[in-house]
Amino acid sequence: MSRSTFAIAGFILVAALLGIALVTTAPVHAETETVYQVSTIDALLAGVYEGSHTIAEVRQHGDLGLGTLDALDGEMIVLDGVVYQVKDNGSVVVVPDTMTTPFVAVTWFEADITREIARPVNLTGLQAQLDATFPSHNLFYAIRIDGFFSSVTARSVPAQEKPYPPLVEVVRNQSVFEYTDMQGTIVGFWSPEFVEGINVPGYHFHVISDDRTKGGHLLGCEIEHGVVEIDTTPNFLLNLPLEGDFPALDLGGEHGDEVAQVER
Ligand SMILES: [Zn+2]
Repeated sequence: MSRSTFAIAGFILVAALLGIALVTTAPVHAETETVYQVSTIDALLAGVYEGSHTIAEVRQHGDLGLGTLDALDGEMIVLDGVVYQVKDNGSVVVVPDTMTTPFVAVTWFEADITREIARPVNLTGLQAQLDATFPSHNLFYAIRIDGFFSSVTARSVPAQEKPYPPLVEVVRNQSVFEYTDMQGTIVGFWSPEFVEGINVPGYHFHVISDDRTKGGHLLGCEIEHGVVEIDTTPNFLLNLPLEGDFPALDLGGEHGDEVAQVER
C-alpha cells in the first residue's frame, strides 16, 4: 500500500467512526409531522372499547389530539400535552397516565398556516373556510382553533359494560351539552377520503373551555372571533391492538353510514 492509499483508508475509517458516533449520540426525537393513531374507527364502531394503550404511551407521540377512554368512558381531548376527559355528566378531568384508550389520534402540533376569524361563523362556514385553505385534499391536517364562541353544542358518551354494544347504539344515549359565551379551543383533524375504515374522513373535532370545565365531541358552534392554526401532516403511524377483541374482529364491509351517524 502506498502512503496515499493509507491516507485515504485512514480518512474513510475516521469518517466511518465519526458517522457511527454521530448516529449514536444524536438525541432521540419523537416523530414529527405525523398523525399517531391507536386502533381504527371501524373497530370502535364494532364495539372494541377496551383500552389497549396507556395515556403515558400516547403522550410520547403527540401533544394535541382526540379520542376516547377505556370502556368508551367519555370524550378525550389532548391539548398542550395535557389529556382531558369529558364525562357523560359533562364534568372534565385530567386523565392519569395509567389509564388506557381504545382509540386516539395525536400529533406534535406545529402550525404551518395561521388564519384569523374576524367575523362570526358557524361550524359549516368554518369548515368551508378551512376547505379553501388546505393546500391539498390528500394530506392530513391537525387543527387548533382558539376563540370565543357565542354557542357550542357538544356531546359525550357513557362508559359501557361488556358485552359492548356497537357505537351506533351507544350514541342513542349520548349526553348533549349546550354552552353559550364560551372562551375555548377546538382541536381535531381533517383526514382525506381514502382514510375511510381507519379514521373519520373529513373533520373530527373535540372542544374544551379555557377554564377546563366544559367540552366534548363538537356537534356545532357559532364562533365570534378566534385564531385557526393548521398543521399539514404527511405521515401516519397506526398502532393496532395485539390483544383484546381486535385481532379476531371481522373488519370487512363498509361503514361510512355508521361513521356519519356517530360523528354528526
Ligand atoms: Zn369525537
